[in-house]
Amino acid sequence: MRGEDLQFWQTEPCPPWCRVEHCSTDDYEDRSCEGETRGVTLSLEQALYVENRDRRDAYGVPLHFDVTAQHRYREAEPLVLIWTVHATESGPRRLTVDEAEGFANAILDAVKEARS
Ligand SMILES: [Zn+2]
Repeated sequence: MRGEDLQFWQTEPCPPWCRVEHCSTDDYEDRSCEGETRGVTLSLEQALYVENRDRRDAYGVPLHFDVTAQHRYREAEPLVLIWTVHATESGPRRLTVDEAEGFANAILDAVKEARS
């Protein structure tokens, strides 16, 4: 989060794209600026099967990719993070053309953010 009040561990203000509310009590591992997380749901992939024992039912959670710009504490430059969420197995992921375009745009948006 941008502002004039830096936490004791910050040596410079956050980049304009940072969405994190930093605290003086942030652990070393939590000291990073992060941009908006952009997700793309993969409609062709197997959903993660989730059982709810309390309600005695089950449902599927779709696999999706998340893309975010991140600048870790005292690292020279920001990175772009890409990870799969709710993946049940490793291997190639199948995307529709629209999903691939959404994924590419999410990466490009995060790259633009990291360079701003
Ligand atoms: Zn920040």
